[in-house]
Amino acid sequence: MQVPFLDLKSQYLVIKPEIDKALQTVFDKSAFVLGEAVLEFEKEFAKAHGVQHCIALNSGTAGNHAALWSLGIKPGDEVIIPVNTFIATAWGAILCGAKPVFVDCEADSYNLNADLIESKITSKTKAVVAVHLYGQPANMDAIKAVAAKHNLILVEDAAQAHISEYKGKRIGGFGEAASFSFYPGKNLGSYGEGGAVVTNNAELAKKIRMIRDHGSQNKYQHEIFGHNYRMEGIQGAVLGVKLNHLEDWTEKRRNVAKKYIRLLSNNLKIKLPKEMPYAKHVYHLFVIQILDIENKPNSELRDSLANYLKEKGINTGLHYPIPLHLQECFRYLGYKEGDFPVAEKLASNCLSLPIYPELNDEQIEYVCTNINNFFD
Ligand SMILES: *Cc1c(COP(=O)(O)O)cnc(C)c1O
Repeated sequence: MQVPFLDLKSQYLVIKPEIDKALQTVFDKSAFVLGEAVLEFEKEFAKAHGVQHCIALNSGTAGNHAALWSLGIKPGDEVIIPVNTFIATAWGAILCGAKPVFVDCEADSYNLNADLIESKITSKTKAVVAVHLYGQPANMDAIKAVAAKHNLILVEDAAQAHISEYKGKRIGGFGEAASFSFYPGKNLGSYGEGGAVVTNNAELAKKIRMIRDHGSQNKYQHEIFGHNYRMEGIQGAVLGVKLNHLEDWTEKRRNVAKKYIRLLSNNLKIKLPKEMPYAKHVYHLFVIQILDIENKPNSELRDSLANYLKEKGINTGLHYPIPLHLQECFRYLGYKEGDFPVAEKLASNCLSLPIYPELNDEQIEYVCTNINNFFD
């Protein structure tokens, strides 16, 4: 049996008639950049997150940047970000000329540990970026409290967490702004690159719209510095169609996760993802940790499990094998191994199992049987 890590084609085949029709409309109107389909998607995506404004962009990285840029983050500023995340979270600060300051994650949620933020705050600290990693909301009450106490701007990186919930409320409105990615493999994915920022702040929304379009509201009048971060028309059309399926697909992801947890819960060699009491996890990724007898970091055992599964036709991933503080590009920040023990252990032990709405019971059972066989 083959179990790919991701299967975008089988989803396309299910929605092909809707997609083809929506794309044809874009071609007929030649609305290739922004346009009606993008506007319509912005409205629906904002509504889906219970926020006032959505600005559609051409990547999640653009969203990370535009959110912090519009909020005035500039050279000399420091921005707190979790050390366990995809690197694009850090690009938001870097592209503003600011310095990313890393904080370790929690052992159970793998999200930013709010208790560790305070010791990293200096007179230069301006913002905190809370990442809802793997599809599980970060502990927003705790993070919000620290941000409020120190007068820091709070931004969400929701690239992996479309329509996830914190204490029954969808993410996206917990900070000044939230960025999303629509990279094809994300829970809501375009057929190319895509991203967005959502916010309840009308002034900020206006500014991000200008940043997206060369710092301009009226053609050839440039009031502020900007970029070309505009979403393509065909991506707006695809996302508009796919957004209608997102709740159904999210429930299916949650069901896959539930089955994995049931079939793997007796395996004492692995640690399963934990849905926190405050969270509705949307399982962008299903990340397990491989534990050895002494409960130590063990990338060799993890790698041999990944190879074993690969031989059986099962593809897995690593999210993420190198924490940000150990990346070559951040060497100048002066961090060293041992600075963030929770993230470092996770980097050695993590293994992401295939998860997507189309994954069937037979495949799920096959994955679990093979994992259990490996340890027997
Ligand atoms: C995917 C991702 C991004 C960046 O999105 P792109 O659309 O690929 O630019 C940012 N942050 C996180 C946490 C991501 O997973």
